[in-house]
Amino acid sequence: MSDNIYDLFRSRFPEDRTRPFIETEDGGILSYGELDAAVGRTARLLADLGVVKGDRVAVQVEKSVENIVLYLAVVRAGGVYLPLNPAYTKAEVAYFLTDAEPRVFVCRPETEAALREVADAAKVAHVLTLGTRGDGSLPEQARGLNPDFATVPCGLDDLAAILYTSGTTGRSKGAMMSHRNLGSNAQVLHAYWGWGPDDVLLHALPIFHTHGLFVATNCVLLNGTPMIFLPKFDADQVLSLLPRATVMMGVPTFYTRLLGHPGLTREAVAHMRLFISGSAPLLADTHKEFSARTGHAILERYGMTETGMLTSNPLDGERIPGTVGFPLPDVELRVCDDQGAVLGPDEIGVIEVKGPNVFSGYWRMPEKTAQEIKPDGFFITGDVGKVDARGYVHIVGRAKDLIISGGFNVYPKEVETVIDGIDGVVESAVVGVPHPDFGEAVTAVVLRKPGVAGPDEAQVVAVCKEQLANFKVPKRVFFLDELPRNTMGKVQKNLLRDRYAETFKG
Ligand code: AMP
Repeated sequence: MSDNIYDLFRSRFPEDRTRPFIETEDGGILSYGELDAAVGRTARLLADLGVVKGDRVAVQVEKSVENIVLYLAVVRAGGVYLPLNPAYTKAEVAYFLTDAEPRVFVCRPETEAALREVADAAKVAHVLTLGTRGDGSLPEQARGLNPDFATVPCGLDDLAAILYTSGTTGRSKGAMMSHRNLGSNAQVLHAYWGWGPDDVLLHALPIFHTHGLFVATNCVLLNGTPMIFLPKFDADQVLSLLPRATVMMGVPTFYTRLLGHPGLTREAVAHMRLFISGSAPLLADTHKEFSARTGHAILERYGMTETGMLTSNPLDGERIPGTVGFPLPDVELRVCDDQGAVLGPDEIGVIEVKGPNVFSGYWRMPEKTAQEIKPDGFFITGDVGKVDARGYVHIVGRAKDLIISGGFNVYPKEVETVIDGIDGVVESAVVGVPHPDFGEAVTAVVLRKPGVAGPDEAQVVAVCKEQLANFKVPKRVFFLDELPRNTMGKVQKNLLRDRYAETFKG
């Protein structure tokens, strides 16, 4: 057995290979034996197309069972899996293909005509297609091939995947993930979250992102048990399937949507062992409401594309709302000030991390890598937070979201927490907007509960004045019906900053 992560997964497949790996919404089942054969045939095809160790295979397709097979086949063939959000435009895909220089590009049948042009321009050797119903040239060409494929031996430092960061500022960067990064993190999470032989995961996340692709799928593969695999999150469907599942991983919006559904009851989740949340902050109120309604304390964890998962609330022990728990075994975590000095308990600064899960750098960006990975191996996450006296990590925001108003630092989370506590408020987002005197002006965007008399601008400002130093009090408060979010549930603060950019001009 080499250090290829596929060998690790395979060593954990159930002895009875007829046992299910994936169950789909239409009742379809892919067993572990069928998975291994399908991965073998696809790996054979990739090898026949000339994919050798280190070659990138870029993939922009919808979520499907075949897409999971493709991920594993690329890795088994020694290649580097490079998933792209299906929402990316032709111009964005052109950038990724030119930057990553994949040997093979797999796209949807319906986008082939448009994307072949950009693939040709980027000198991609092969373009294949994959639809959601087992259609496309990739499954067609793999169909008759021999499923016995000898896994390409890989070392722990060989690359298994490149995931481009969402890149809200500047160019999107390709995070290089090795077999060590993926394997170590999966094993830590599998143990930490107490996976056992009866577990069934409900999978409703996208799989072009670390959460749905690695955290969720790799835990299941290591456990050798089934997952119920849904194309997307739909509250009705999820509630109807939860009685068959034991674990669900979600972004916070999954949980707020479930709370908005009358079907979320104690009975509906009686069979569940664990609800996990991550990728964006879970409001403490959501945590508390979910716990009151269902008896389940959601386990919140924190991580990022470049590092995999970093911290988690405990399986046994107190899961504290509004915190992301303890550093995982293997992960070293520290909080530093602007000068790089390590801070003590409860002091706020930038979170830095080190461990076998931390990526080796950004694809073809050695300078960027050197700026963000320190000589002692610590990666500067860009998240601002603190570790409290009990060791729980708190995230206060992104360093780039920090507002500097009149020379004072304002952490948006602190202001948001005050506003979120006002009756009639669902949630808020606080951003810095250009201001002629202050540089940036604290600006709040608030979502009020429908049908309840919520606060107006003057009331929000009055409550903030009572609880916060003056420089933190919003200069303006706006009300929206919905906060802009990306697919992973993150509030797109850049869009809010753009939207209100002219507020204080002239
Ligand atoms: P991504 O690389 O898309 O996974 O985004 C990673 C970023 O999401 C982190 O650097 C954090 O800013 C944020 N994030 C992930 N999980 C959490 C969490 N539980 N609470 C707060 N922020 C989170």
